[in-house]
Amino acid sequence: MAALNSLGTTGRVLLVDDSPIALEAIGSRLQESGLDVVMTTSPREAVALATEGPQPFDLLILDVMMPHIDGHELTRRLRDHPRTNNTPILLLTSLDTTDDRVLGLVSGADDFFTKTAPDAEMLARVRSFISLGKMRAQLQAQHEAMARVMREPEAPTPPQARVEIIHHMPVVSERLARALRGSPVGGEFQLTQRASSQRMATSDADLLVVSYPVALEGEAPLLKRFGFDEEAPAILVVDETESTARRVMAFDSGADDYLTLQTPMAELAARLGSALRRQRRQRQLRSSRDRAMLVAVTDPLTGLYNRAYFHEALGVEFRRAQRYKHPMTLVLLDLDHFKQVNDNLGHSAGDEALREVSKRLRQTARSTDVVARHGGEEFAMILPETDLEQGLIAAERFRAAVDGALVTGARGGSRALTMSAGVGCFPAHTSSISELIELTDAALYTAKRQGRNRVCAVSVSQEPPSPAIPAAAAPSVGTSGVMERLRRLVAEDLEGPLTATRTAARMLHEASDPGDTLHTLTSQLRQSTDEVRQELLRVMDDLSRAILEAGRAGAAHGEHK
Ligand code: GH3
Ligand code: MG
Ligand code: MG
Repeated sequence: MAALNSLGTTGRVLLVDDSPIALEAIGSRLQESGLDVVMTTSPREAVALATEGPQPFDLLILDVMMPHIDGHELTRRLRDHPRTNNTPILLLTSLDTTDDRVLGLVSGADDFFTKTAPDAEMLARVRSFISLGKMRAQLQAQHEAMARVMREPEAPTPPQARVEIIHHMPVVSERLARALRGSPVGGEFQLTQRASSQRMATSDADLLVVSYPVALEGEAPLLKRFGFDEEAPAILVVDETESTARRVMAFDSGADDYLTLQTPMAELAARLGSALRRQRRQRQLRSSRDRAMLVAVTDPLTGLYNRAYFHEALGVEFRRAQRYKHPMTLVLLDLDHFKQVNDNLGHSAGDEALREVSKRLRQTARSTDVVARHGGEEFAMILPETDLEQGLIAAERFRAAVDGALVTGARGGSRALTMSAGVGCFPAHTSSISELIELTDAALYTAKRQGRNRVCAVSVSQEPPSPAIPAAAAPSVGTSGVMERLRRLVAEDLEGPLTATRTAARMLHEASDPGDTLHTLTSQLRQSTDEVRQELLRVMDDLSRAILEAGRAGAAHGEHK
């Protein structure tokens, strides 16, 4: 029942507190803000819910002071479980001592807040940790898909962390550097200090420790650029004195933590260390993903994900979407009249065009979208957490990004590129993965037939058998009718047996008996190579001949050309 709150963050939260009163007070505030909250007074039950429950949580909020298993112990147990080792943990305490905070951060919690903290601050922090939890889960899913394609687990060695401190007061800068060096979980790192006057376009640091004005004020505030970017460093904001308004502002803009100069040295050290550890864990997931990508799952021409990865990733994302009841969108795109580009400007101009299109698609996509080259001049994009409305907007953005891109031939001459796109959505259109692909493919075909350079969503009437089939071929009587329609589709598609052949294959799949060669071949067509397609065409020919020879009524005419 996760409704949308004002900031659009939905999420599942587990709240554990041995006091029913505290549980109710905090739980109801979280629920009012639109979150899906599961509450328990029992730490044991909490472990069971978090590690074995039907759905994982985006955030765990644990009371520190509980009998039998306290919050620190609970944190350690959850950190040891594969299901929760990456889930953000916030500790809840009525105490407000530095020792307590340090202990919590060292046991593996991401942060804590006191039960007396103002609502706005609590909610801002909860929101920012829910985003973090979702991002980690997504990276984890991509990582799993990768590992499966690779068929071997990776063993990443984390490189040395890089930390950068940007503050206008050298004294403060020094103090922060000292705290960081004394951090119990800091490990090895390189430290740079930078004056706040120096502008920063990008940073290769893992952790940025910056003053409030650098983070949020002036012409190009750091958080405005880096706040919610997956690739960006973790950002800790250091303010001169505590201010609730500024604290909330910082968290809502994507800061990872907010500290003041009054923060005791030991806590400062623990907080810096914990942010660094958090960031390192994320970067580890990311770098293993990146490294593996180079080896097994990249299309050599365009640098995009290849077809094998696309199918794995689609499986993982689809199951994730089903399990957590989130929407997801599939976009299939195909260059229009691309054969003419090759014919008129040469094959290497064609290759160059494919590279340019890939670059534009990647730049237009979000970092968590999967952008793949699905076939020759066909692309596939998986948009997690995206419903139909957002999916259509995104697809239109992809189409527009390519529209008019110029390809130039080696011996002069040029052409403007366009693309057509089909958009299919779970759960709006279907709850089956193979049908999602088929319907989206049919929508792409519709976009082509309607004149190209456009986006078509799966239409409700477009369930198989597809209306993309010309009306004249509609009457279908037994196998012979289907064969007749198939032959027509394939003939239409002689130049490039992709889209229409697939539609044909789907029809054939439906018309054939489970278990026979045709049935199997047509279901394989998704992973098809040219050989499979050629084989399919041959089988179709044989079949039609057999039908003809058997002299079945009405089928004879039109089979030969
Ligand atoms: P439509 O608008 O219906 O999609 O027409 P089309 O010409 O784009 O489609 P068709 O499937 O008939 O042709 C696709 C062409 O894409 C044929 C092939 O020469 C070209 N192609 C496929 N892969 C590559 C490649 O890796 N490099 C180059 N240069 N061309 C490719
Ligand atoms: Mg094409
Ligand atoms: Mg094509």
